[in-house]
Amino acid sequence: MKRIVSILVLVLLTISSIVAQNNEIKNVILLIPDGASLSAVSVSRWYQRYNNPEKTNLHIDPYICGTILTHSSNAPIADSAPAASSYMTGYLGRPGSISMYPPDDPSNDIVFMDPEKAYQPLLTISEAARITQSKATGLVFTCEFPNATPASCASHTYDRSKYDWIASQMVHNKLDVVIGGGVSYLSDHGRQFLQDEGYGVFLDDINAFRNYKGDRMWALFGETYMEFELDRDVEKEPSIAEMTKVAIEKLTKNENGFFLMVEGSKIDWAAHSNFVPSIITEMLAFDEACGVALDFAKADGKTVVVIVPDHGNSGLSIGSDKCPNYFEITKDELFGAISNFKATALKMVYKLRETEPADLKEVFYQLTSIEMTDNDYDRLLQCTDYRLGPLSDEERSKDSFLLYEIVEIIDRTTCFGFTTTGHTGEEVFLAVYDPTPNRLTGHNTNIELNHYLRRTLGLTKCLESLTNDYFAKHTEVFDNYSYKITDKNGIPVLEVKNKNNILEILPNTNIIKLNGKEIKLESVIVYVDKNNTFYLPRSLRNLLI
Ligand SMILES: [Zn+2]
Repeated sequence: MKRIVSILVLVLLTISSIVAQNNEIKNVILLIPDGASLSAVSVSRWYQRYNNPEKTNLHIDPYICGTILTHSSNAPIADSAPAASSYMTGYLGRPGSISMYPPDDPSNDIVFMDPEKAYQPLLTISEAARITQSKATGLVFTCEFPNATPASCASHTYDRSKYDWIASQMVHNKLDVVIGGGVSYLSDHGRQFLQDEGYGVFLDDINAFRNYKGDRMWALFGETYMEFELDRDVEKEPSIAEMTKVAIEKLTKNENGFFLMVEGSKIDWAAHSNFVPSIITEMLAFDEACGVALDFAKADGKTVVVIVPDHGNSGLSIGSDKCPNYFEITKDELFGAISNFKATALKMVYKLRETEPADLKEVFYQLTSIEMTDNDYDRLLQCTDYRLGPLSDEERSKDSFLLYEIVEIIDRTTCFGFTTTGHTGEEVFLAVYDPTPNRLTGHNTNIELNHYLRRTLGLTKCLESLTNDYFAKHTEVFDNYSYKITDKNGIPVLEVKNKNNILEILPNTNIIKLNGKEIKLESVIVYVDKNNTFYLPRSLRNLLI
């Protein structure tokens, strides 16, 4: 009996220590290398080791602990929108849908999708951590801010291309720190709103970004997006590691902890263009950001770091049938050839367009250390976008472009293979640093990863009820009231009236008007044109009582 009691005490002590340790987690940093297949990780590690034999490992290596199955609701191959949304909300989405329940597609849906829930905005873990735990929230990325992955953390729409809606929602989503690309997507109104709210707003201003002492900031670089690492002007744009460091410094000032998402956005873009040097340099820059996050977490002791791509891309392989006897290829042949690139393929296009035919081979060599063959040279002259050569417009091929030819020369010479210029459906790697015994390991689904993040943040079971509270249909919230939706200059406006009050509600902000007076809400208002429905906080009904 005594023995049973002591075993019981031991079990209880163990359970309570797990609970205590879990409760001690204050911060979660989720890092997403967009479109990074495992082969992109391999090729980057090889490259790093080739150029620096001391560095045999990436920062993420000690923490790789499993795989994640990633897919959309009705297809095995995901795009960034449903992929990141499933991590953020715990629900699958259709292609292009951003943290919103999709309409069903019964013959193709991978699991049952409830048609009753179609177009329901889904509260994200970032929003839930801010609203219910008063945590600080932040986003770091290198694409434009309304792009799918950052958008999935802080906006809701069925169509990822609706940048106006997404940008406005993100501006009004009370994010503490936003650092990334997309100056032109921040409207004057959005900029003014952020400044009025007390944010430091810095557009293409690296010095102001570095010197700012305040806690809340929007710092954007690049008219549309930030440069690829290979082309980055270090005087004008910070590295993703520096952006991550600054974000963490700001977010740690909140005593309740923080949620930070960091996206290595352009690994995906490099993979889409099948350009190995950029896949590597983007992945290594991202790995440096992982190093910053992991160093912070290890010193802090209350932070969980999760590193997981959203989907594969390009079917990159080390070795290709394009090279005879490629299985005998040496490390010099594979990695020597790509270690001296001075620019991305895109920048090379700009350079070669302005180069006289007599200098083409030399300029190409300067940029790549690859000697072009006579056949390659002839093919460049054929390109429709190379106008300085001897061929007339009619003589050049309409289907041939410098970009494709450059990439083809490089891939053939360097012996890397690709199966596609699009996404791929294999599972992705999972790396986790978790100081508690609760670390997620093994093979899990995208939804299970979300549940792990919820548990880690202490959000267990409440995300659905929060969605119900913050994104209720206007028809339910204002049941028995007089309401109508009108169109004002192309913007739908919901007007609700009772004896004494008029409530005016516009979509994509957190601001409503009660009798003409502005009220700021904790969450953004979402409008879906497909079902002519506003999704808004249930508590708004109380304003009219
Ligand atoms: Zn993606």
